[in-house]
Amino acid sequence: MSVLGNVEPKEVFQYFEEICNIPHGSYHEKQISDYCVAFAKEHNLEVIQDKLYNIIIRKPATPGYENVPALIIQGHLDMVCEKESDCTIDMEKEGLELQINGDFVEAKGTTLGGDDGIAVAYALAVLAADNLQHPTIEAIFTVSEEVGMEGAAFIDLSSVTGKKLLNIDSEEEGIFLTSCAGGARVNCSVKIAHEEKVGQLVKLTMTGLKGGHSGTEIDKGRANANTLLGRFLLELEGKVTYELVEMCGGSKDNAIPRESKATILVDAKEMDTFQQIRKEKLAAYQNEYSVADPSIQLNAEVLSEKKCMVLVEESKHNALVLLNALPNGIQSMSLHVPGLVETSLNLGIMNTEDSKIIYSYAVRSSVTSAKDYLIQKMTALTKRLGGEVVVSGNYPGWEYKEESKLREDMMRIYTQMYGKAPKIEAIHAGVECGLISDKIEGMDCISFGPDMQNVHTADEKLSISSTKRVWEFLTKVIACK
Ligand SMILES: [Zn+2]
Repeated sequence: MSVLGNVEPKEVFQYFEEICNIPHGSYHEKQISDYCVAFAKEHNLEVIQDKLYNIIIRKPATPGYENVPALIIQGHLDMVCEKESDCTIDMEKEGLELQINGDFVEAKGTTLGGDDGIAVAYALAVLAADNLQHPTIEAIFTVSEEVGMEGAAFIDLSSVTGKKLLNIDSEEEGIFLTSCAGGARVNCSVKIAHEEKVGQLVKLTMTGLKGGHSGTEIDKGRANANTLLGRFLLELEGKVTYELVEMCGGSKDNAIPRESKATILVDAKEMDTFQQIRKEKLAAYQNEYSVADPSIQLNAEVLSEKKCMVLVEESKHNALVLLNALPNGIQSMSLHVPGLVETSLNLGIMNTEDSKIIYSYAVRSSVTSAKDYLIQKMTALTKRLGGEVVVSGNYPGWEYKEESKLREDMMRIYTQMYGKAPKIEAIHAGVECGLISDKIEGMDCISFGPDMQNVHTADEKLSISSTKRVWEFLTKVIACK
């Protein structure tokens, strides 16, 4: 039974509901992609589906718009699948249970996928309409955006003729995004060798940190569990005789780690001193982070006294020097856009393997040369310590365009409709506009969208009234010559 059947704008919510009925988490986009192909065929529209299941659909211009350049409407097909612990929906196989709560559409117990199903719904509504005016519309739907923008990186856009792109993947109405950061994953590793030692085995755990998104929340001044644990181990040196067995923390390079662990071997005679220093240092960290990260804990679980394999002195030294000397956090702020972080990095994952310790960083910058220099500095230091650096997933930023007809037109239309100007913003995170504009010379893009709350969580909500206003705005934007 339809839940959104009578919700305006019906032409948009009809498609949104159909999309919600098809499971479409990242890496499971075949079904939703096939649905888009079937839609295009049913409407006699040209469609391309590539082997990753990215989609391009083309609709001809309406009368009078034949000579107006094509316009691209873009969004991503995949959604983040999160659910409440007691929710029994299998998000790989079942659709969502939609419900209306006041002005909001929600999914019971799960993410809604308004991010970014609403973009696909808007685009399908434009492609299906026979009462709108517009130039040639090229709809681009990408896969695997939420897991590293793999679809946008892979897609072949040589058949696309438009040079103006409406990316509908922002979560606040009235904000137009006009630039984003580029980035890369940088893995710095040091070689380690082992020897046998005897001592008191201790498991250290750093917990209670807030974490957050390594781009948009890097300016919150929060602690990083990996670097803070590294700091403790360095500060312990020279005060207590101890050996390092292993250390690890974090699971995603683009999340600020909330927890980390290390196993160490402490000289049994120095256990009291060790505990004393642990308490002192913890108090110092709690004091330093009392505003941004007030619940830091550093626990020491004392295990048995035993013989075990530990890092040799040089390995331990290299691992701790690299962990403490590599930069982390904000490196510079933008002087063009007040409040925008320009360059940053985050040690998201730390892992000990048999023969090396790997530190995985998410590096970001809206200035390519600054990003390249930061990676070069990291490489120089890592190599000086005999280690190796692997750079992967390098994606381009999206630079602010001084002159943008699309932005001017959209600002004028918005101001006429609502009597106030939209906010023009930049973001210290990657969006697909960077990868797509990198493939089409002279691309002019804007990212916008209706109000959504708590995206990527089971509390995700999409505002109905905002969806309606953004639809009215979108129909005017596409009708602009
Ligand atoms: Zn999104």
